[in-house]
Amino acid sequence: MAVHAVKPGSDLEKMAYFDEDSGTLYVSKTHAFDPNVRSYTSLLRNEGINLNIQNVAMEVIQTLRTNQVRETRTDVIEASEMQRTASELFKMAFKRRASDIHIRVSSKGDTRILFRIHNDLEQIAEHPYSWGKLLCSAIYTAMSDISAATYEENARQDGRISAKKNLVPGLDGIRIATTPQVDGTVMVLRLLYNDADKSTDICSLGYDQAQKEEFALMKRRPTGINIIAGPTGSGKSTTLQRTLLSIHQECRGTKHIITVEDPPEYPMPGIVQTPVADATTEAERSAAFQAAIKATMRLDPNVIMIGEMRDTPSVRLAIQAAMTGHQVWSTVHANSAFAVIDRMVDLGIPLNMMADPSIVTGLICQRLLKVLCPHCKKPFAEHAGRYSAGDRDRIMSSIDVETAHVIGDGCDRCQNTGIAGRTVVAEIVVPDQVLMAHVRKGDRDKAIAYWRESGGRSMLDLAIVKINAGLVDPFQAEDEVGPLNFVLQDASPGSAT
Ligand SMILES: [Zn+2]
Repeated sequence: MAVHAVKPGSDLEKMAYFDEDSGTLYVSKTHAFDPNVRSYTSLLRNEGINLNIQNVAMEVIQTLRTNQVRETRTDVIEASEMQRTASELFKMAFKRRASDIHIRVSSKGDTRILFRIHNDLEQIAEHPYSWGKLLCSAIYTAMSDISAATYEENARQDGRISAKKNLVPGLDGIRIATTPQVDGTVMVLRLLYNDADKSTDICSLGYDQAQKEEFALMKRRPTGINIIAGPTGSGKSTTLQRTLLSIHQECRGTKHIITVEDPPEYPMPGIVQTPVADATTEAERSAAFQAAIKATMRLDPNVIMIGEMRDTPSVRLAIQAAMTGHQVWSTVHANSAFAVIDRMVDLGIPLNMMADPSIVTGLICQRLLKVLCPHCKKPFAEHAGRYSAGDRDRIMSSIDVETAHVIGDGCDRCQNTGIAGRTVVAEIVVPDQVLMAHVRKGDRDKAIAYWRESGGRSMLDLAIVKINAGLVDPFQAEDEVGPLNFVLQDASPGSAT
C-alpha cells in the first residue's frame, strides 16, 4: 500500500481524497484547515507530488471514495497506464505520418501493432494478448467521445477521439473502428490530420494543368452530377474537399455549398457540413443517410456534396438532386471513369439517364502512386538487372529507360522507406452529346475511342508520364494501374470487377 493511502475508518477518510492519476487532492471545504488534512497535504508534498487542491463539499469526498472502491485499484492504474501508452502510440504514428494504426489482438498469440504509411502496412511492435485487450479497452472506453462507452471484444464498434487532451497537436481527431476476428479483435484508428490543407489547388495532389481546366468546366455547370471513383484510400475525399473549397473561394461565398458525410472527416470553412445521425445497423445508416440528403435539398443549396453513393436509394437521390437544379459532387466505387456508368446502372439508374450529358457532367477516376524519395531513388537503366527478363521487357517497351527511376534503399530523408509521398494519377471524362450517344447505344469501344481522339488520357497514360519524369517507380505504378504495356484502346486496365 502506498505511503499516502488514507487509513480506513480514520477522520481523514471523510475529509480528503487523493486522486493519484490527476494529482488532485479533494478536500472537504469545512475541513480545509483541519490538522489531519494539513499534515496529509505536507506528507504528499514531501513525496514530491505536485498537488492540485480542490475544495469540495463533504459528500463529494464520500462519492469519490465509493467510486474508487467500485473499481479495483489495479484496474485504475492499468487503465491510465494504457492511456499513456496509447498517447505514445499516437505520437509515434503522427511523427511517421501514418494514416492508420492497426491493432490486431489475437487470443491464440499476441497483439500486433501496424502503421499504414504511404499506403503500406508496417509492423511496429508485438505485445502479449492481454496487453492488446487492455489497450483497445482504454482507447475505446476512456479516450473516445462516447461517454460511458464499454468496449466489447465481440462486437463491431465505431467511435471517435476528438478531445484535445487525448490527441496529438496536429490531429483533428482519430476515428475508431473495431471488428471481431476469428480469434480476437482488430481495431483500426484513422488519424485525421489538421494540416489536411487550406490549399484548394488540385495540382499539388498530382493533377495537371489541363485536368484542372476540366475541373473548371465541371464547376461552371450550374446543374449536373460529377462523380469521383477509385478504391478506398485513393484520395477521393481530398480531391472532393479541395474542389468544394475552391468553389467556395471562387464564388466568394455567393453559393450555398452543403455536404452530407458519414462522418465529416475534415473541417471545410465556409461550407455547411452535415453529419449523418448515429446509426447502429446498416439499414438504419442507409435510412439516416437518405434522410440527410433529402434534408439538404430543402435547404436551398447550389452545390451538394454526397460523401459516398453506396446503395440504390442514395444514388437515386443524388441523380434527383442533379436533375432538379443542383451541382452535385459524389464518389462511388468503380475502377475506371467509364466503369462509373456501369456501377450507377447496377445501382438502378437507367442507362439513358447516365448517358445524358446534361445530368452527368463529369466522371473522374483516380489512384495514388508512391512518389520516389529524390535523395535515394536509382536510375532504372543501371538497376534493370535486378528484375526478371519478362518484367524488364514489358516495362522497357512502355517507358523512357533513360529517365525512369526505381525505388532506392532508403535514406535518412525518407526514414528508410524510399518514398517521399504520394501523387494522383487520374482520368477525366467530361461528357458531350457525341460521347453519350455511343454510351446510350452501349458502344463502349466507340465512346472510349472518341474520348481518346478528343484528348482523353487514361490513368495508365498519366502514370507513364510520371514514370518518365522519374517521379514514380514503374513496378509500383503497375500495382495501381495495371501492366504498363496494356493496349491503350480501353481506358480501364483494372476494370475487371
Ligand atoms: Zn530516401
